[in-house]
Amino acid sequence: MPLQVQSYVLRFGELSLKGRNQDRFVDDLIKIVKPRIKHLDGKCEKRHKRVLIHTKAPVAQVRAALSTVFGLAGISPIYRVDHDLANIKAAAWELMAPFKSSGKTFAIRGRRPNKKYPMTSMDLQRELAGHVLSQGLDLAVNLKKPDIELGLSIEKNDTWLYLETWPGLGGLPVCHKTCHGLLLSGGIDSPVAGNLIQKRGGCLEAVYFHTPPFTVEAAREKVEDLAEVLARYQNGITLHIVNFTNLMKTVRAQCDERYTVIISRRFMMRTAVALLRERGGQSLVTGESLGQVASQTIENMTAVGEDLPWPVLRPLIGMDKQEIINIAQRIGTFETSIQPFEDCCSLFSPKNPVTRAKLEHVHHEEAKIDGAALMAEAIQQTESMVIHADFTQLPLPKAAD
Ligand code: ATP
Ligand code: MG
Repeated sequence: MPLQVQSYVLRFGELSLKGRNQDRFVDDLIKIVKPRIKHLDGKCEKRHKRVLIHTKAPVAQVRAALSTVFGLAGISPIYRVDHDLANIKAAAWELMAPFKSSGKTFAIRGRRPNKKYPMTSMDLQRELAGHVLSQGLDLAVNLKKPDIELGLSIEKNDTWLYLETWPGLGGLPVCHKTCHGLLLSGGIDSPVAGNLIQKRGGCLEAVYFHTPPFTVEAAREKVEDLAEVLARYQNGITLHIVNFTNLMKTVRAQCDERYTVIISRRFMMRTAVALLRERGGQSLVTGESLGQVASQTIENMTAVGEDLPWPVLRPLIGMDKQEIINIAQRIGTFETSIQPFEDCCSLFSPKNPVTRAKLEHVHHEEAKIDGAALMAEAIQQTESMVIHADFTQLPLPKAAD
């Protein structure tokens, strides 16, 4: 029977630095991985500071299934044999034989976590290299920068051989005990901001402010589609759709036009807090980037976040638009985001929004409306839904930017 990949080693990046907390992060990782490999009849095995996956599914399907898992430095598909040197040698030859006359260079990298094994890593490497060369492998050894690396690890009960390690997404596994309220509009920025929080292990709930009939139903569907992409990185995402029509109309009619964006943004933030307070909310996340548009100045951000109980996370704060677009393209939100349905902000935006909001003026303008009643009405009309991604249909990962 030819050698087959039926197991995968998940390699930790930052996770390996977590000391005594590592166990908790590994448990979070397993919670994320399990539902993604269920349709592949896959099993997770926690093995002394490492996680293994066992499945007989085609390698490409496993790669797609693991493409949205944060917390991994890499994933190696492994071939497993026992500790018998003759079997290890035969496996090394079987894996190297296809490259026999390829003109490439190679190296064998051995590790020996099982210290009881009678040979050192160095001796093993030498023995195996000698064996494959004696079998007719016409390749030069290059230990510094080989074209082909055959990895070898002598484990407690078996031996692993591997030829490749797929890059992981880095970051930390999403922890479903956290709750970050993403203000998700239909634009390019906020889904990217949300994904960056997921990359640091944050679990999102999304809040979208809808203003029918000024915003069409398609704008709302667009936001649902964006939430579905974000759901690929966690196990289901709750999306709250808040009807903000009355509040926006009242702000537009009663308040200084230049301050409408700031005042409505303040109410968006407060409404999101009110919705998520009982649901374990800890922060708000927006897609703002310093100076990107007139409303995104430090003075305006101060005014928007003035009385909030939680920090406002703005992971895009120092990014250029092109950097944000690159991430949007990689995670698969860009094409949806650029569909031309206006969100409420573009429709209610004044021609000359204030760029340096003065707090006294914000308070003065805000006092003209009954914000509490309008917010209560909006919350009452909120529709909440849980959106799940289809893990059987995850696309293959795109190269990192
Ligand atoms: P985006 O590309 O995310 O729409 P933007 O560049 O259009 O951002 P703004 O319109 O100033 O910037 O919005 C800033 C942030 O405020 C958004 O990134 C989003 O987090 C939040 N936001 C704006 N409008 C809405 C909305 N209708 N529903 C939910 N959040 C919103
Ligand atoms: Mg926008």
